[in-house]
Amino acid sequence: MNVYDSEAMARVLAPMGYELTAHKKNADCLLLNTCAIRAKAEQKVFSYLGRLTGLKGNNPDLLIGVGGCVAQQEAKKIFDRAPHVDFVFGPHAINRLPEIVAQAEQGKRHAAATEFLDSFEEITQPLLDKADQEQSGVSAFVTIMSGCDNYCTYCVVPHVRGREMSRASQAILAEVESLAAKGVKEITLLGQNVNSYGNKEGFGSFAELLGLVHEVEGVERIRFTTSHPKDLSQELIQAFAELPKLCKHIHLPVQSGSNRILKKMNRGYTREDYLGKVCALREACPEIRLTTDIIAGFPSETEEDFQDTMDLIRQADYDSLFAFMYSDRPLAPAVKFPGKLSEEVKGRRLAQVLEVSEEIARAKHAAMIGSKQQVLVEGRSVQNPEQWRGRTGGHVTVNFLAPACGGLVGKQVDVLIENGYSNSLSGKLWTEDGDCPKPPTEESHAA
Ligand code: SAH
Ligand code: SF4
Repeated sequence: MNVYDSEAMARVLAPMGYELTAHKKNADCLLLNTCAIRAKAEQKVFSYLGRLTGLKGNNPDLLIGVGGCVAQQEAKKIFDRAPHVDFVFGPHAINRLPEIVAQAEQGKRHAAATEFLDSFEEITQPLLDKADQEQSGVSAFVTIMSGCDNYCTYCVVPHVRGREMSRASQAILAEVESLAAKGVKEITLLGQNVNSYGNKEGFGSFAELLGLVHEVEGVERIRFTTSHPKDLSQELIQAFAELPKLCKHIHLPVQSGSNRILKKMNRGYTREDYLGKVCALREACPEIRLTTDIIAGFPSETEEDFQDTMDLIRQADYDSLFAFMYSDRPLAPAVKFPGKLSEEVKGRRLAQVLEVSEEIARAKHAAMIGSKQQVLVEGRSVQNPEQWRGRTGGHVTVNFLAPACGGLVGKQVDVLIENGYSNSLSGKLWTEDGDCPKPPTEESHAA
């Protein structure tokens, strides 16, 4: 979501003559898009701002703006701690950036744009209308909702991104069609809880929306994130069996395996509900890859609660997971919960979760050695430019050799997997005889 928002910031400022630069020393305007999900992310913003003091000293005309969730949460406090910041703007104010930057160029200082707006269109439509939507690349994000109404007790999102709002399906389809026409092959639909898409507005279900996106010509792969387990419907589970372009991967954050802790988190499901949905997913689509998020050390979590989580991780048989130490967020109710755990206990539990998840991921990736995987090619490998890089439908990164085969970017190719690591796979282009196919001729290329 932050990547999507950063791209939007660059797009709305382009008509004013601003373009991206790779070096902050060359910049006339520096924008920090910030994350408030955990305390560490927020601390990084302030230490980074501290390091920019010198830059502003050398170039007094430099404009510095802070956007995103820390801007929303801290608003004017940012100016107290970092007076060299010129303006702050929350997640609903991206489309107002041209006006805010123009005023800052005229010398206006310390403007704060943090009002919440009332509809998805108000937040985003002007952005898309104004945007010169130059899109290059194989994959693109398309936002379908903003905000969140779930109020999990540890989470800052509803407080900094506002109430849940869905975007009309016609607008979503228009954006997907325009991206597909520009050569994008893979679309990732974004929302904090895509499973409740359209409920408030009566736009039709998320599964129906997937069906519509599936019809768009040129789109080869569809992904989405994130799914809240309490709202995962049988209709959506069935979509994995019925829509061939829908990648066989679901990120289904569980957070904890203890019913007592899940209740305190206000997640709205039990471990039994959750495991029941995992079973239904595997029944509908046996090859589905399942990933999750875990919070280690929520207030009052006992050793027994934690063991319930470890046990659930094994039962759910995740392909991979993200795990975080519980972090107090000033706006979230859990900040006042009793039974806070020490950093040491949280750290130890986090390490145990990561250890078991790495073990499982390694074993799963090792079991894929010798198999043929369909990979959507995104570009050259970052570590080794002789190799190509892409992802499987299950969202695993694959680096592979395809000597003398040009023009692979944006194509789906079969790769023979030769090595499995904890976070990726590697191999070579698959051919029936085990050799790399001949380089394309002028004629075959044109065809
Ligand atoms: N909307 C998504 C998650 C968004 S936040 C969902 O509900 O699944 C991404 C992840 O950050 C969450 O799944 C959770 O695991 C983690 N997270 C959120 N708040 C946190 C906090 N206060 N401390 C630690 N981890 C947190
Ligand atoms: Fe936060 Fe819960 Fe909403 Fe996810 S569903 S964004 S964890 S409040």
